[in-house]
Amino acid sequence: MSGFYCKCGHRTSTTVYPSKFEGDLKWQTESEFCSDEAYKLIEEYLNALQSGDDKTWLKKVFSPPYPFETITPIQVIQDLYSRAEGMKGRLIRQCENCQCIYIQEEYGSDKWTTYEKEEELDQPYSRNQFQRYLDD
Ligand SMILES: [Zn+2]
Repeated sequence: MSGFYCKCGHRTSTTVYPSKFEGDLKWQTESEFCSDEAYKLIEEYLNALQSGDDKTWLKKVFSPPYPFETITPIQVIQDLYSRAEGMKGRLIRQCENCQCIYIQEEYGSDKWTTYEKEEELDQPYSRNQFQRYLDD
């Protein structure tokens, strides 16, 4: 059973996909990088497909037991997209009990930064204070 323990002691399961408590976080620069990589890989694959070298190309990109002989072009494109998406970013998790947020340093890292939910303010910001904040 996959899951994570929060510092509040609650264990949140991450076995279900898609999960309401786990996702990916990418900065816009990282999203752009991943999109560019996906387009590049897909273009290379389509060129290889057109020239009949697709099986050779796939063997340079994927390792066995990848189903080189039976995979369809649309499945290859999905796999290339997933591969590119996984090149940058980090996991983000939320404790379902206390709403604490955990952000991974990078994919595969064991280092996480924790963000606690702030307590409700006794005196809510006035509209003017809020507006000033938005104008900055
Ligand atoms: Zn918690």
